[in-house]
Amino acid sequence: MSSFTITLPSGASWTPTFVQSINEEKCIGCGRCFRVCPRGVLELVGLNDEGERMAVDPDGDEEEEYEKKVMTIAHQELCIGCTACSKICPKKCYTHAAAAV
Ligand code: SF4
Ligand code: SF4
Repeated sequence: MSSFTITLPSGASWTPTFVQSINEEKCIGCGRCFRVCPRGVLELVGLNDEGERMAVDPDGDEEEEYEKKVMTIAHQELCIGCTACSKICPKKCYTHAAAAV
Protein backbone atom coordinates (compact mmCIF):
# COMPACT_ATOMS: atom_id res chain seq x y z
CA MET A 1 0.00 0.00 0.00
CA SER A 2 1.24 3.51 -0.80
CA SER A 3 0.17 7.08 -0.07
CA PHE A 4 -2.15 9.09 -2.29
CA THR A 5 0.14 11.53 -4.12
CA ILE A 6 -0.49 14.01 -6.90
CA THR A 7 1.80 15.53 -9.50
CA LEU A 8 1.81 19.32 -9.55
CA PRO A 9 2.06 21.33 -12.81
CA SER A 10 5.74 21.87 -12.02
CA GLY A 11 6.27 18.14 -12.10
CA ALA A 12 6.89 17.95 -8.37
CA SER A 13 4.88 15.45 -6.41
CA TRP A 14 2.83 16.36 -3.36
CA THR A 15 1.24 14.12 -0.77
CA PRO A 16 -1.82 15.77 0.83
CA THR A 17 -2.38 14.95 4.48
CA PHE A 18 -6.00 14.85 5.57
CA VAL A 19 -7.47 15.89 8.89
CA GLN A 20 -7.77 12.95 11.31
CA SER A 21 -8.51 14.40 14.72
CA ILE A 22 -8.59 17.51 16.89
CA ASN A 23 -7.40 17.31 20.48
CA GLU A 24 -10.37 18.68 22.43
CA GLU A 25 -8.32 18.87 25.63
CA LYS A 26 -5.92 21.37 24.05
CA CYS A 27 -8.45 23.29 21.89
CA ILE A 28 -9.38 26.76 23.17
CA GLY A 29 -12.22 27.26 20.64
CA CYS A 30 -10.59 30.31 19.07
CA GLY A 31 -12.11 29.58 15.63
CA ARG A 32 -8.94 30.36 13.64
CA CYS A 33 -8.98 26.99 11.91
CA PHE A 34 -12.67 27.33 11.02
CA ARG A 35 -11.99 30.64 9.27
CA VAL A 36 -9.20 29.30 7.08
CA CYS A 37 -10.78 25.99 6.07
CA PRO A 38 -11.93 26.34 2.45
CA ARG A 39 -14.09 23.23 2.52
CA GLY A 40 -16.59 23.45 5.37
CA VAL A 41 -15.04 20.51 7.19
CA LEU A 42 -15.07 22.02 10.68
CA GLU A 43 -17.76 22.92 13.18
CA LEU A 44 -17.44 24.81 16.44
CA VAL A 45 -19.48 23.31 19.27
CA GLY A 46 -20.14 24.32 22.85
CA LEU A 47 -19.90 21.81 25.68
CA ASN A 48 -22.07 22.37 28.72
CA ASP A 49 -21.27 21.12 32.20
CA GLU A 50 -23.05 17.85 31.44
CA GLY A 51 -20.91 17.21 28.37
CA GLU A 52 -23.75 17.93 25.94
CA ARG A 53 -22.84 19.56 22.62
CA MET A 54 -24.48 22.43 20.80
CA ALA A 55 -23.61 24.25 17.58
CA VAL A 56 -21.93 27.66 18.07
CA ASP A 57 -21.38 30.48 15.57
CA PRO A 58 -17.63 31.29 15.64
CA ASP A 59 -18.43 34.92 14.83
CA GLY A 60 -21.51 35.18 17.03
CA ASP A 61 -21.79 36.87 20.39
CA GLU A 62 -24.72 34.93 21.79
CA GLU A 63 -25.21 34.39 25.48
CA GLU A 64 -22.91 31.63 26.65
CA GLU A 65 -24.91 28.58 27.62
CA TYR A 66 -21.87 26.34 27.59
CA GLU A 67 -18.73 25.84 29.63
CA LYS A 68 -16.25 25.54 26.80
CA LYS A 69 -16.06 25.76 23.01
CA VAL A 70 -14.16 23.20 20.97
CA MET A 71 -13.64 22.66 17.25
CA THR A 72 -14.87 19.39 15.81
CA ILE A 73 -14.66 17.61 12.45
CA ALA A 74 -18.16 17.67 10.96
CA HIS A 75 -17.39 16.64 7.36
CA GLN A 76 -14.10 14.79 7.20
CA GLU A 77 -14.98 13.51 3.72
CA LEU A 78 -14.73 17.07 2.33
CA CYS A 79 -11.11 17.63 3.46
CA ILE A 80 -8.63 18.23 0.63
CA GLY A 81 -5.58 17.87 2.84
CA CYS A 82 -4.30 21.44 2.62
CA THR A 83 -3.33 21.55 6.35
CA ALA A 84 -4.21 25.27 6.62
CA CYS A 85 -6.12 24.46 9.83
CA SER A 86 -3.11 22.83 11.41
CA LYS A 87 -0.73 25.63 10.41
CA ILE A 88 -2.85 28.36 11.97
CA CYS A 89 -3.76 26.49 15.18
CA PRO A 90 -1.94 28.10 18.14
CA LYS A 91 -2.36 25.01 20.34
CA LYS A 92 -1.20 22.29 17.96
CA CYS A 93 -4.48 20.41 18.23
CA TYR A 94 -4.44 18.74 14.83
CA THR A 95 -3.43 15.33 13.57
CA HIS A 96 -3.26 14.85 9.80
CA ALA A 97 -2.33 11.79 7.78
CA ALA A 98 -1.81 10.82 4.16
CA ALA A 99 -4.48 8.67 2.55
CA ALA A 100 -3.55 5.11 1.70
CA VAL A 101 -4.24 3.86 -1.82
S1 SF4 B 1 -6.71 20.28 5.87
FE1 SF4 B 1 -7.63 22.06 4.75
S2 SF4 B 1 -9.59 21.27 3.93
FE2 SF4 B 1 -8.90 19.84 5.54
S3 SF4 B 1 -9.92 20.53 7.42
FE3 SF4 B 1 -7.90 21.52 7.36
S4 SF4 B 1 -8.21 23.54 6.36
FE4 SF4 B 1 -10.04 22.23 5.94
S1 SF4 C 1 -7.23 26.89 15.83
FE1 SF4 C 1 -6.75 25.20 17.27
S2 SF4 C 1 -7.27 26.03 19.29
FE2 SF4 C 1 -8.30 27.34 17.78
S3 SF4 C 1 -10.37 26.42 17.52
FE3 SF4 C 1 -9.03 25.51 15.94
S4 SF4 C 1 -8.30 23.59 16.88
FE4 SF4 C 1 -9.07 24.89 18.56
